[in-house]
Amino acid sequence: MKIMTRVAGTGKKLLETALKGMNNAYVLWGFRVGAAVLAEDGRIYEGCNVESCISGLGTCAERNAINHAVLHGNRKIKEIAMAMDSETPSEPKPCGACLQYIHDFAENPGIKISMAKARSDGILLETVQMKKLAELLPFPYKPSRVQFQT
Ligand SMILES: [Zn+2]
Repeated sequence: MKIMTRVAGTGKKLLETALKGMNNAYVLWGFRVGAAVLAEDGRIYEGCNVESCISGLGTCAERNAINHAVLHGNRKIKEIAMAMDSETPSEPKPCGACLQYIHDFAENPGIKISMAKARSDGILLETVQMKKLAELLPFPYKPSRVQFQT
């Protein structure tokens, strides 16, 4: 339980919620991923990856979790977690597109990202990692001529 203690509190809760999302993933050829965000309203919103028979049309769990928060009126997220099926050999971390998307909605570049591998019945504690967004995406794209609606 030492590792889970390190990510106690919100990170632990987000990982557990991400696991619930992972168990609903719609996977055709990839692997199951779940994500959860703590939004500005203080609530947690989950997401899962949803693939399509058209290659490239599916959406990652992280972006679906953010979209879920936006659907409920949020414009900023305070923290995010993702859980990846332990069956895949890939390292559990958001893809580049999702890192940019997280940056778009993060309240600041210092928000925490908790990452872990999981089986359907639980997070694999020895795989849990926690990083800051700025560590994973040190040079985000920042358009200078776009007017954002907030
Ligand atoms: Zn992604």
